[in-house]
Amino acid sequence: MTRTVYVNGDYLPETEAKVSIFDRGFLMADAVYEVTSVLDGKLIDFEGHAVRLKRSLSELQMAEPCSKDELLEIHRKLVELNGIEEGLIYLQVSRGSDGDRDFAFSSEDTKPTIVLFTQNKPGLADSPASKKGAKIISIDDIRWGRRDIKTTQLLYPSLGKMMAKAAGCDDAWMVEDGYVTEGTSNNAYLVKGGKIVTRPLSTDILHGITRKAVLRMAAEAQMVVEERLFTVDEAKEADEAFTTSASAFVMPVVEIDGVTLGDGTPGPIAKRLREIYLDESRKAAV
Ligand code: PLP
Repeated sequence: MTRTVYVNGDYLPETEAKVSIFDRGFLMADAVYEVTSVLDGKLIDFEGHAVRLKRSLSELQMAEPCSKDELLEIHRKLVELNGIEEGLIYLQVSRGSDGDRDFAFSSEDTKPTIVLFTQNKPGLADSPASKKGAKIISIDDIRWGRRDIKTTQLLYPSLGKMMAKAAGCDDAWMVEDGYVTEGTSNNAYLVKGGKIVTRPLSTDILHGITRKAVLRMAAEAQMVVEERLFTVDEAKEADEAFTTSASAFVMPVVEIDGVTLGDGTPGPIAKRLREIYLDESRKAAV
């Protein structure tokens, strides 16, 4: 079925949607994005994604293409037009096109390009992958230093996923100066002696919207959270591990660099947090 997508104010069949070849998003990865999940036909953590989008744009001196209310309306309309019960909405804002290629940009005059499309994913919340748990490899983190800005510079994370696949695994955790930064498209956690450990927020990692919600829910459930650096070796010796992201919620990790964690099945804390997150965020969905 042809999707209806959104481009710069228009709702169009995906085959008719067009963006200039001079768009800086296409030529320079001069663009930011958000991915919001949909459960029961409603948006999960919309507010968090809208706030982070605003911050990403502001950090790059990029114009806001529309207001938060308009953004919400576009998201809702795409969910409705495409009949999405469970799935994702991808949103991208680029600096737009100056009508030619140049490293320098004329930020005042150029209108940003905004594009949104849906991805229908029935069974997203009940995914078989989350019941099996993910196998992870570790790789060097060679990305740029502003990973707190959600840009579309995703070549290295894509290569990381491919390295994981080539090794018969599901994903990669990136390591810098001996410490785990984050997964290719998720935040990383270990659990040892009942304590949840995750890297503190800085410019080294993306400030995950799911991370924020899960850490709040963990605290509400009287779980102990320690925000500090950890190494891959520490993760290999953990009782369990997991990742968080808008597209996979809380995903248990069962193997790191060939070392099995616990009994090789999703750990109790990861499973519990997944349940709590899905339950609470469904209730708060808009
Ligand atoms: N870290 C990276 C590098 C990501 O790409 C993502 C999501 O795409 C995350 C963390 C998780 O962020 P969120 O929970 O907002 O999806």
